[in-house]
Amino acid sequence: MTESSPASPSDEIDLAALRAKYAAERDRRLRPDGPRQYRRAAGEYGYYAKDPYTPRAEREPRADRVEALVIGAGFGGLLTAVHLRKAGLESVRLMDEAGDVGGTWYWNRYPGIHCDVESYVYMPLLEEVGTIPSRRYAPGEEIRRHAVALAEKFDLYRDALFHTRATRLTWDEAGHEWTVETDRGDRMRARFVITSSGTLTQPKLPGIPGIEDFRGHTFHTSRWDYGYTGGDQEGGLTGLAGRRVAVVGTGATGLQVIPHVGRDAGHLYVFQRTPSTVDVRDNRPTDPEWAASLRPGWQRERMQNFLEVLAGEPVEESLVQDGWTATTKLQRKILSGAVDTSLPAEERERRDELADALTMNRLRERVAAIVRDPATADALKPWYRYMCKRPGFSDEYLQTFNRPNVTLVDTADTGGITRMTERGVVVGETEYEVDCVIFATGFETGVSGVLSGTLPVIGRGGTALLEAWSRGPRTLHGFYSHGFPNLFQLGALQNANSANFVHILQDQAEHIAAVIARGREVDAAYIEPSAEAEAAWVRTVRETATDLRAFQAECTPGYYNAEGTASATGMMYSPGPVAFQRVLREWRDGGMHDVLVHHDALSTRA
Ligand code: NDP
Repeated sequence: MTESSPASPSDEIDLAALRAKYAAERDRRLRPDGPRQYRRAAGEYGYYAKDPYTPRAEREPRADRVEALVIGAGFGGLLTAVHLRKAGLESVRLMDEAGDVGGTWYWNRYPGIHCDVESYVYMPLLEEVGTIPSRRYAPGEEIRRHAVALAEKFDLYRDALFHTRATRLTWDEAGHEWTVETDRGDRMRARFVITSSGTLTQPKLPGIPGIEDFRGHTFHTSRWDYGYTGGDQEGGLTGLAGRRVAVVGTGATGLQVIPHVGRDAGHLYVFQRTPSTVDVRDNRPTDPEWAASLRPGWQRERMQNFLEVLAGEPVEESLVQDGWTATTKLQRKILSGAVDTSLPAEERERRDELADALTMNRLRERVAAIVRDPATADALKPWYRYMCKRPGFSDEYLQTFNRPNVTLVDTADTGGITRMTERGVVVGETEYEVDCVIFATGFETGVSGVLSGTLPVIGRGGTALLEAWSRGPRTLHGFYSHGFPNLFQLGALQNANSANFVHILQDQAEHIAAVIARGREVDAAYIEPSAEAEAAWVRTVRETATDLRAFQAECTPGYYNAEGTASATGMMYSPGPVAFQRVLREWRDGGMHDVLVHHDALSTRA
């Protein structure tokens, strides 16, 4: 799906000049402190991360035993629990820091929130729950309720523990199970532990000098304060009437929230550092006739088709057709997928760059066509390659800057907001007095507690996981590691990725459940990859890796390139999610022997 606005013909594009412009725009934004510019919403800033939705109930510490403990009750954890239930496990416990299931969709309830991947492929197990989303891109509350419906349908609330954070996992070799400690004083035991604690969960704040001096109201978008703003996710923020409001950040969240705040605030100042790309959204209600025409198995087929199109696999027909499927080649710059090897690498790169420039020119023209004030339009134009940032979509965002009560404040030259005062926000020498500052500044990335060290994992022989990984992560297929039996991780590490991350999680959940089911079936002592199988996978990931460093070094700073300091090379299985599905299928069909440790072989496994 593209707009009808004319795209510049490719032969008029001066790639060298464009590259120079992109480099200049990147340099303007590079900061010597890179990722250190941010603050965790913890400690003295902990109030930014408090749960505003569910009161924390007191309870006695648990010292019981479950067969499977799933840490994280977002879609990854929920789907794993569902598939474990289907595989016959009765004793499955969900645990989450949040007050309920939903993960991202529990925390993020800001006005305007919708999924940005088509809901028919994004919301998992629609057919099993017997529902169809109300809109092509469903509102966040509907997605959150779907997570609740999944938990209810598969009886996952029975033993769940919310407002509970795992603080330590210790392998007990004698008992062949994990001891799990939590911040609620629990000391429970679990035969299998599965972590699905998210990649974008911990809100982050800019380390703006004076942030604590501000005397007005302030919160992060992932903890929306409806008590202050009034209204709900549909809008109607009556509490903002007559107030001066600052929104800091113009990423995927900013794009969704800013039209609502612009509509209802007395005056809105949008503090932008790097503009997002803003393509057509084209959201619409689900056509009931289309919904009635769907045949059993339709969702799996549609999800797989979307995954294949995005991963560059040949398909007869592209079923989804949206802004994601229109830019698949560009996405493979950052997400994994098949590359066209029929062309020499240099020619392929030139064509990719040209296609990128055409797309970006179209998006810059879209800004100019919508935003009336030329200076504001210029500041809203993105100057970088398409996948340097998560692509954005909206049919309301750019239009918001035509409102008389909305001011765009470009902070690119000052590296963001300069400081905050009691009264407001300072950029350079100019102070903007405001009543409220809303941070749409995103999340710490890739930070499963296991990787960041906030959830220490102590495996066989007292070895800490991060010690075993001191020279880089070591897994088989991204799921498990030698020395850490019966421990499974979901996420984007040494496996494949896609714009529809919930599909990736669904595949991972099904695979993990299949492996656990097989282990139980053959009465394995435990499940743990052999050192050889693990080493072979680490080698495969390295040898098949696409080198993204040059691409990422030219990008504007952001969380995709660790604020301009690093690349994700080596973290992913570059051939892509469909190739990865094939790898896993063949491996399962081969009997899964690499990970099944039998009782009689224990003495040789130390
Ligand atoms: P992002 O990290 O994408 O954006 C943070 C924003 O804050 C950026 O615009 C950043 O600017 C800005 N910022 C950071 N520090 C400062 C500063 N000191 N001064 C001024 N501006 C600053 O976070 P989001 O919450 O928008 O999105 C995170 C991810 O969550 C998305 O990429 C997407 O994967 C997911 N998401 C998905 C949605 C969906 O619909 N499914 C909706 C929302 C989010 P700069 O770019 O210059 O660093």
